[in-house]
Amino acid sequence: MQIAIDGPASAGKSTVAKIVAKNLNFIYIDTGAMYRACTLIAKNGKVDYGDEAKILDLLENSKIEFKNGEKEQKVFVNGQDVSLTIRTPEITANVSQVSALPGIRKKMVELQREMAGQNNVIMDGRDIGTTVLPHADLKVFLVASVASRAKRRYLDFEEKGINQDLAEIERDIEQRDYKDSHRKISPLKKAADAIELDTTNLTIDEVVKKITELIEKKQKKETKE
Ligand code: C5P
Repeated sequence: MQIAIDGPASAGKSTVAKIVAKNLNFIYIDTGAMYRACTLIAKNGKVDYGDEAKILDLLENSKIEFKNGEKEQKVFVNGQDVSLTIRTPEITANVSQVSALPGIRKKMVELQREMAGQNNVIMDGRDIGTTVLPHADLKVFLVASVASRAKRRYLDFEEKGINQDLAEIERDIEQRDYKDSHRKISPLKKAADAIELDTTNLTIDEVVKKITELIEKKQKKETKE
């Protein structure tokens, strides 16, 4: 089975997808982490975030991988654990510029499809239902108000000991959503056959339950057919 979960920044996609994947023993693929890794590769290579040819060159000699850690899945670039570095404000502020480059998207989409292969996967991102897995068995589009997404992110940061102003987080989220939904190639968009779920007033457990129910319903339907 292929499950696509898309939606704007900080809508809870990865939190929920990770839990559902673990419960159902599916492979979880965090595509945002891959674009973040590309951005980090550009930064480390001292290449301009808009220089597609040079970033592609660097990618030729870079390996982006996911490995299961003790608690969480970790992201590696050339064998080095970059799980935390790809979440820094510098990377978050520039990832939308890198992810808008057509050549980078082409390469990442190929890699994502390869990773999905014939496995049971749950993949989250912005263009999974529209582009990466257009024939996914289930497509979910998670939305939530900007205020509630910013509040979640704020609490998340607080827990990690990072101090960031709530209004600033809200502004960052809005800017990133704008860039992601207005780029030319596979912008953030709900697929025509996706089920929209507004998580503004839902807990993580409630979202996990809803998505699990949707998957089980699909599984039953597909076994009957
Ligand atoms: O999901 P996350 O917020 O970590 O994604 C980081 C960025 O990666 C997004 O803001 C977007 O620019 C890019 N992205 C994308 N397509 C995806 C997943 C993420 O363009 N499928």
